[in-house]
Amino acid sequence: MTRILVLATTTGYQTRSFGEAAERLGVELVFATDRCHQLEDPWQDGAIAIRPSDEEASVAAIVEAARARPIDGILAVGDRLTVVAASVARAFGLPGHPREAAAAARHKRLTRERLHAAGLNVPTFVSPGFPCVVKPVALSGSRGVIRADDPASLVSAIDRVRALLRSPDIRAERDPSHDDILVEEFIPGHEYAVEGVLHHGQFHVLAIFDKPDPLDGPFFEETIYVTPPELSPVEENAIVSGIVRAAAALALRHGPIHAECRVNARGVYVLEVAARPIGGLCARALRFVVDGGPSASVISLEELLLRHALGESPERWRRERPASAVMMIPIPRRGVLRGVAGVDDARDIEGIDDVRITAKMDQLLVPLPEGASYLGFLFARATSSAEAVGALREAHHALHFRVDPEVPVLTGSAMRYNPEHD
Ligand code: ADP
Repeated sequence: MTRILVLATTTGYQTRSFGEAAERLGVELVFATDRCHQLEDPWQDGAIAIRPSDEEASVAAIVEAARARPIDGILAVGDRLTVVAASVARAFGLPGHPREAAAAARHKRLTRERLHAAGLNVPTFVSPGFPCVVKPVALSGSRGVIRADDPASLVSAIDRVRALLRSPDIRAERDPSHDDILVEEFIPGHEYAVEGVLHHGQFHVLAIFDKPDPLDGPFFEETIYVTPPELSPVEENAIVSGIVRAAAALALRHGPIHAECRVNARGVYVLEVAARPIGGLCARALRFVVDGGPSASVISLEELLLRHALGESPERWRRERPASAVMMIPIPRRGVLRGVAGVDDARDIEGIDDVRITAKMDQLLVPLPEGASYLGFLFARATSSAEAVGALREAHHALHFRVDPEVPVLTGSAMRYNPEHD
């Protein structure tokens, strides 16, 4: 049986989507993960336990496991595992990114250096002046990314990032990159994300997402992604060619790409090119069809990526029209989630495809810059991007989250909770 090795950090809903896609394709998935104890997918037994901090041992574990269950393709899903994936691809002689490229792509300072050396626009990254942005070099999802407008806020931003990098969950990764903090120029402008696949060095755009909500800081919470963006062909070309040049500067060659860029009058600034697909449930905003093919052959991003991992060119797949949008529902404030209302109302709104609340009841919610999760996801499809965004905003408005303070508030002799309602 054809088998694909999927290197995934979490084993939640994203791996479930891959499981469904694999079933459709009739291929077997073998997972390698550094979160084995959290494995919750019952159909996937025998995940290979790896530790990105010990690359050699991780590759050896995978090579050993592949003796009994040989693999035909490799796909890295988690940010922390892209480097191990590249090493494994090399060990098996399977197509993938060069190891050094994957390592540079996941290190923000190395990314800046490579892009700068290749003559691309990059934010100045030495003595930037103000406003500037402080960030850890190897976290994702905007975790620890803070804008500072003056020396005092720079000092407190750096303190805050250092405290975050000392937190137990990050120290457990044992990644020496977490000793590094990057301070760089704040680039004003409109932000886009580009989803694509490199096929033996050839870049295929799968989708360009517009981020319609301003991302001006001090924290940079992702909310809405909508595609297609309202861009002229010239602007679209400038973005794609910026990403292509950045991927080439990093020497990325083969595999999924998720890139972010900012665009202003000075041009396109590629902020990052990650050697992995878009994270988590967001992938559900994308579906692909063959131009002029039967409507039965609508596939998920996960299926497209599994096909690619087996050698299929992504060329014939086009994003399914019309417009599609997803909202990562932001965490309004720190506290304990006690209730969610309005889900059915949100679902009934025209254009809303799905409402997924992923936060768990009684879970401690931690907003950015320290947090690493969302309340959930809203999905919309409509004839235009503006309508899809409108549906998301309306649905978000219909939702009510009860978030109670984490610690009981003492009032006189009575101790009671002081619930805040959103
Ligand atoms: P992550 O990998 O955690 O998403 P990024 O470096 O992409 O980290 O930063 C997250 C977000 O912070 C970006 O999408 C952008 O909105 C904002 N940001 C990061 N760097 C800059 C910068 N130099 N200028 C302006 N905004 C930035």
